[in-house]
Amino acid sequence: MVDDSRWEKVTNLTGFDGNECFQCGACTATCPLGYMGEETIDTRNLMRRAQIGLDLSEGIWNCSTCKLCENSCPRQVNIVNVIRGLRQLEFEDRKAPDKIVAMLWDIYENGNPWGGKKSDRSKWSEGLQIKDADNGSDVLLYVGCDAAYNKNLHGSLRSLADLLKKAGVDFGTLGNKERCCGEPVRNAGEAYYLDDLVRDNIATFEKTGAKTIVAFSPHCEHMFEKYYRERGLKIEVKHYSEYLNDLVKKGKLSFKEGKTGKITIHDPCYLSRYDGGGDDLREILHSIPGIEVKEMESSGKNSLCCGGGGNRMFIDFEGKRLSDFRMEQARSTGAETVLTACPVCNMNLTDSGKTNGIDLKVKEVSEFLEENVK
Ligand code: SF4
Ligand code: SF4
Repeated sequence: MVDDSRWEKVTNLTGFDGNECFQCGACTATCPLGYMGEETIDTRNLMRRAQIGLDLSEGIWNCSTCKLCENSCPRQVNIVNVIRGLRQLEFEDRKAPDKIVAMLWDIYENGNPWGGKKSDRSKWSEGLQIKDADNGSDVLLYVGCDAAYNKNLHGSLRSLADLLKKAGVDFGTLGNKERCCGEPVRNAGEAYYLDDLVRDNIATFEKTGAKTIVAFSPHCEHMFEKYYRERGLKIEVKHYSEYLNDLVKKGKLSFKEGKTGKITIHDPCYLSRYDGGGDDLREILHSIPGIEVKEMESSGKNSLCCGGGGNRMFIDFEGKRLSDFRMEQARSTGAETVLTACPVCNMNLTDSGKTNGIDLKVKEVSEFLEENVK
């Protein structure tokens, strides 16, 4: 039996979103974790539990927050919101997995979930003489933890900085003062620390006087545009693919006839499903003369998740991975390169390529554009 106070707590934390669900099961049937053989999640069952105030939340830490299930929900339930609410309950009841708690300590102490030192955050930009955003610049380039602390992604960041310079953009970064955007904290259900972090970050961003925040990761961009916006952020926010596409439209960037080879596009969930379809990504790539794009079986709003969102990057999972399957899909297009615009996707696809011996280059869009810019 469920007592009323427990029911109220569960339904409040899940925003009553689960109440719309009429238990058809389409979400469970379409969740890619199920058909990939990864540790799965019974989404329909979770919705029922949220409705009646039960919080036994088996599988909620498996969810990548990819939103693919929401595409097929006939009741337009905000399923990810329910899952995040249930996670908050688990966190408050001290039932969050140990690895998630350890990751949170890294953010409390060092401002990033990867255990890197604060003083190493800006290493990617050594020698580039990028302005300190606190001294005033039109654009605040928000780097994000994933790319800042993964050496394999430093080249992609440097390419983006180079493209901004070529287009004459006045930009700066927060250097080692930058802190996590809080997305992993939100996904962990740590609501109280998230409030502090977001409030501090908004004050830091607004103090720079920048007109636009350009985020390297679509996860950070989504946090700023949706979560920070509701809490007072006033500065315009764009993912870098959208910002670069605007520069192309204004004639500030153009591309040479490329020997790009055949490429395919892996749409990050946080650009496609969360932010409207990945149109900027396609538009900007199609502005390279002669480019040959081979679309994958699932693309745009139906793109298949790489499996790294929702804090899955911090937990170990057994068996075949979503990114393994995605790399197979990419290979079957006959492309030589798979492009993406998200550090999480980039890390997962690269690893799956290596571990499965798939001879397909994984490249960040910023790097690819820099190779082809005039
Ligand atoms: S698809 Fe929507 S309505 Fe159907 S079970 Fe899932 S959440 Fe409920
Ligand atoms: S958001 Fe993605 S991983 Fe989570 S339940 Fe829905 S389809 Fe599955």
